[in-house]
Amino acid sequence: MTAKSFCAHIDAIETIKQAQCHECDECVKTGDRWVHLRTCQTCGSTLCCDSSPNRHATRHAQASGHPVIASAEPGERWLYCYPDDVFAEY
Ligand SMILES: [Zn+2]
Ligand SMILES: [Zn+2]
Ligand SMILES: [Zn+2]
Repeated sequence: MTAKSFCAHIDAIETIKQAQCHECDECVKTGDRWVHLRTCQTCGSTLCCDSSPNRHATRHAQASGHPVIASAEPGERWLYCYPDDVFAEY
């Protein structure tokens, strides 16, 4: 991590988890669609963004308490911390 942030959660991340599959772990179970994908930096789940109907990444963060997601979109290199509402590029 070289990005400067004001969030201890992001500062604590040394290796950024990348998406294993380019699909939402929850939407594939129900056949739903998604817009963008995010990867949880605590457990590695790849889930859909707030522009998607199911907002699985946000629901996962609230339900599990996992604070930080990374964009799983090609070419996007940023992290977001829910509790601190902080974006950080890397
Ligand atoms: Zn944080
Ligand atoms: Zn989803
Ligand atoms: Zn998680």
